[in-house]
Amino acid sequence: MLASVKGLLITLASTLNGFRAPVTRQYPTTPTPVKPRYMGFPALTWDDKVDEPFCTACMVCIRNCPTQCMSATMKDNPLQQEGKSHRRKIVDTFEINLNRCILCGICVNVCNFDAIVMSHEHELSTYERNGDRMDLPNLLEMGMQYQAETAWIPPTQRAKAAEEKASGDQQKAPEEVSGEQEKAAGEASS
Ligand code: SF4
Ligand code: SF4
Repeated sequence: MLASVKGLLITLASTLNGFRAPVTRQYPTTPTPVKPRYMGFPALTWDDKVDEPFCTACMVCIRNCPTQCMSATMKDNPLQQEGKSHRRKIVDTFEINLNRCILCGICVNVCNFDAIVMSHEHELSTYERNGDRMDLPNLLEMGMQYQAETAWIPPTQRAKAAEEKASGDQQKAPEEVSGEQEKAAGEASS
């Protein structure tokens, strides 16, 4: 008798569980949102202040890419000649064969110019073997979308701000200590 009731309760509980919202999604009509730190395909960033890419085509990422799926060329920067940019050289062409990219993030880690990010893009399947060769405009478009989505701040700018804050805190600390000492001395003399 007790075993039957227990069985009925288990059936009832599992029936009620079935009424809960499903944990699965109907991909691709309902894509799963990615997490903020998700590493999708690499993309190039755009410097809004100067209105040009951050990338100078210095080749550091290209030399470090383990799958050799990137290539780039540089040119003299016309905006530097006009006095609008500090970049003497600027990217002219850039290509990443995303079919060969293993999403390792090394290109992002080695770039000294905040020029490349691991975007949130991950849905670029094609039927062709080399259907995902992304050129400069494609990579910049992906990068700009990522920058807008994540309110992106260049990592060097972020690190500099953190450093300034830390050194400000350090300078402030002795002032606070001497203020407290003065207060204590005032209280003792009164
Ligand atoms: S993305 Fe960075 S490391 Fe790669 S070529 Fe451009 S500036 Fe150099
Ligand atoms: S993520 Fe890795 S494999 Fe992909 S382009 Fe960058 S360095 Fe190359």
